Amino acid sequence: MPIQIINRRLDLHEFRDYIASYDFGVQPPDKLVIHHTWRPVKDKWAGARSIEGLKRYYDGKGWPAGPHLFVADDGIWLFSPMNKDGIHTSKLNHRSIGIEVVGDYDNEKWAGQTKYHALGVIKLLMLQLKIDRQNVFFHREVSSKTCPGTAITKDWLFSELDDFRILPRLPGKTKAIEGVASVSAYIPGLTSLDDEFMIPVWAAEAVAWVHRHQLFEIHNEEDVRDAVKFYRFYKLIKANGNQ
Ligand SMILES: [Zn+2]
Repeated sequence: MPIQIINRRLDLHEFRDYIASYDFGVQPPDKLVIHHTWRPVKDKWAGARSIEGLKRYYDGKGWPAGPHLFVADDGIWLFSPMNKDGIHTSKLNHRSIGIEVVGDYDNEKWAGQTKYHALGVIKLLMLQLKIDRQNVFFHREVSSKTCPGTAITKDWLFSELDDFRILPRLPGKTKAIEGVASVSAYIPGLTSLDDEFMIPVWAAEAVAWVHRHQLFEIHNEEDVRDAVKFYRFYKLIKANGNQ
């Protein structure tokens, strides 16, 4: 019987809403297993067409299921349902969520939207399912493969997760802005779960504006403050010009 897949693409905000109301079952997953697809490589990813190809691949193996999620530049693809055991790691399939990061990470780390989506998915699932770091596995821990890629280490992953914030939805701008996610770590006053994940819209707007106009690079809290100052100045001038 061919495997049943969901084949739906979500952005990070949609994924967050999706898992918040998702019925993970009486024995919800209590661990994550991180993979890379290795093939297809990132440049060959073609969204729904790639998902169909992967489905054919798993059907060809005669498997009743596959991994749960494929994370790519274009979004988070739902594959096997997360309330059932998938097939992705022979020794860890039971009560785990298999997350495939699209690309080959033996020589380079996650980058761009793929990185933003992968970190977001891992962090949101850890929070939603109360999964601690000891229960975030790499495929290679129980296999001779290098999966999820030699360039990906636990130290790197957890330090990136510490700094990670979901970007607020900006009007007309749904893509993550490179560098902003880590910048948000420098913004003080983030307390609640919501706040912890959200960087203030005013700061994100300012940073996005500076980035869009390529005024300067943003690396730290000081740069964010400068961005806000420039942006306010710009809005002031614009407001006066319109009078
Ligand atoms: Zn793997």
